[in-house]
Parts: sequence; C-alpha cells; structure tokens
Amino acid sequence: MAPNETPDTPFDISLRPPMFSEFAGQEKVCARLELMVQAAQQRSDVLEHILLSGPPGLGKTTLAYILAAAMGVNIKSTSGPTIEKAGDLAGLLTTLERGDVLFIDEIHRLAPAIEEYLYPAMEDYKLDIIIDQGPNARSVRLNLPKFTLIGATTRAGMISAPLRSRFGMNCRLDYYTADELQRIVTRSAGLIGVEIDDPGSLEIAARSRGTPRTSNNLLRRVRDFAQVRADGYITREIADQALTLHDIDLDGFDEMDKRILEALVLKFSGGPVGINSLAVAIGEDAGTLEDVHEPYLIMQGHIKRTPQGRVALPAAYKKLGVAVPRRDADLFG
Ligand code: ADP
Repeated sequence: MAPNETPDTPFDISLRPPMFSEFAGQEKVCARLELMVQAAQQRSDVLEHILLSGPPGLGKTTLAYILAAAMGVNIKSTSGPTIEKAGDLAGLLTTLERGDVLFIDEIHRLAPAIEEYLYPAMEDYKLDIIIDQGPNARSVRLNLPKFTLIGATTRAGMISAPLRSRFGMNCRLDYYTADELQRIVTRSAGLIGVEIDDPGSLEIAARSRGTPRTSNNLLRRVRDFAQVRADGYITREIADQALTLHDIDLDGFDEMDKRILEALVLKFSGGPVGINSLAVAIGEDAGTLEDVHEPYLIMQGHIKRTPQGRVALPAAYKKLGVAVPRRDADLFG
C-alpha cells in the first residue's frame, strides 16, 4: 500500500491537533470557522451545519473534532456507507444532546433514502420514524435537540443540491504548502520524540504531496530508517535516503503515481482515456484513482481531465523522461 493511501493509525490519531492554534495552514477556512464558533457562543446558540470538502488526509476529520472541542460539545462520528438503514441514522440522532456534533465522513456516499430522511432532521430538527409494518405501519414524529451536522467529502461535486443547500457553511480544503507541512512534521516529530533538523523536516514536507497525513506517514518511515541505519537523528540526507528507499521521488510521487503516468503516456499514448480503462490498466479501483491519486497529479499539472477522458500533459512526459509529442493545442491547452 502506498504511503498516501495508508489509513490513520493510532500514531496519526495522537498527532491530531486538538485546537485551532495547533492546526497548521488552511488559514482562511480556520478564520471562518473560528468566527462561526465565536458568534454561536456569543449567542449561546448551536453551530450551523458545516460541509468540509477536499482530498483525503487534509484535515477534515481533525477540523470536525476541533470544532466540537471549541464549542465544548460531544462529537459522534460515522460515515456515509455505514448508515444502511434509516433506523441506523435515527439511532445516532436520538442519542445527541443539544449542541452536539454528528460527523458524517464520506457524506457523498449516503444512500438517497437516508439523505431524504436527513433533510427534516437538519432543517427542523424533526425525525419521522415508521413503526410497525404492513397495515399497522404508522409514522411517528420525534423532536430532536438542535445539533450540528458536519459532513466531510472528497467529492464535493457528488453532493446533491438539496443536501448542499442545507449546510450553513461550505469549506473547501486545499493542498498544503511545503512550509505548512514542515511545521506539521516538526510538531509531529516533537510529539513522538524524534530529533530532526530544519532541512530534514523540509525534505519530508516537500515530498508529502501537499498532504499532512502523508507527512506523518513519511515521518514514521524516516524515523524507522534513522533509528536502524543511523543514530536516530533525522537530517536531510537521512530523510532523502529513507524516502528514496521507499520509492518516493523528489516531488513526492510514489510507485502508484508513476504507474498512472506510465499507463497514460506509454499504454494509452497520452490519452484521452476513460477513468475506468486507466484504472484497469494500473490495477486500482476507479473511485480510489479519482479521489486519492488523481487530484494531486492534476494540481501539479501532469494530467488533465477532459470530456473525452484523461490526457497526459507535458510535465508527465518530462517526469518519465519521454519526448513530448506534438499534439493538438486544445488537448494540452
Ligand atoms: P481527512 O479527514 O481530511 O482525510 P484527517 O483530519 O484525518 O484528514 O487528517 C489526517 C491526519 O493528518 C491527522 O491525523 C492529523 O494528524 C494530520 N493533520 C491534518 N491536518 C493537519 C493540520 N492542519 N495540522 C497538523 N496535522 C494535521
């Protein structure tokens, strides 16, 4: 499994910043959210529903926990695909107290029937439950306490318009700069008690694909390397050797990124190729390819999405050391 895909481990969870002041980067988003918290607290009100979107590992879950802590309320966490029946959602909603946060990760994967069930709960804090079956079936209306729904999604485009419109605030998280990631690496190294110098943390940051989760995962790889092959102290050279051993190149591209670019450039002559064919060629699930791997390659200008499919851009050819072909301007454009 590539480092970018590794799910959060207990190591990561202990590294989650517990408050805004320890959360690096995303200044605009944090400023808006902190203001919302302050305003709600001044009015002794409940926080409005918030939708957080952006690629995996950028801090959506972390922000949900920070928001709940800042409001001094409990948080219950679930994810779209695990809510199979309306009863599952009712079970969660009826245990909330006034002001509590319900965090739904991957909210774009909620079943449509569940989504509809959520609307009156979000809007009027009411829940219609069907009890009994057949001719005795009847609907009972439950009053819920005023709560905050925080939804997280890697696919803002897949959220239906009615659901989106029920969120009071919609925040998009962007990839982090190397500077911001360096701060995260330095903080994480301090928390796990690893010594690292500035060039060492910058090296890890620069090879983290703009993603804090990746930074923490790479730090762990480098820590192991420093411990076994050196004296435990992380310098730029040690970080470089460790990351090279794990096939993370200078731009942070890993094995999977290279496989994607090779398939696109060499097997499909630079595209355009449909996402499903590309996924089959690299042996990856199309959804994971689209959500996890592709956004960074697009952001870095290696791949472009077109209505006909994915197209390799000149940077992809350069990365593979292949001559850039002459193509239609509108394919590269
Ligand atoms: P997402 O929910 O967007 O997939 P997470 O909130 O689970 O991402 O973040 C993944 C890990 O990255 C967290 O465990 C946390 O340690 C770290 N992290 C994310 N954002 C930040 C940040 N801004 N500052 C410090 N660490 C962060």
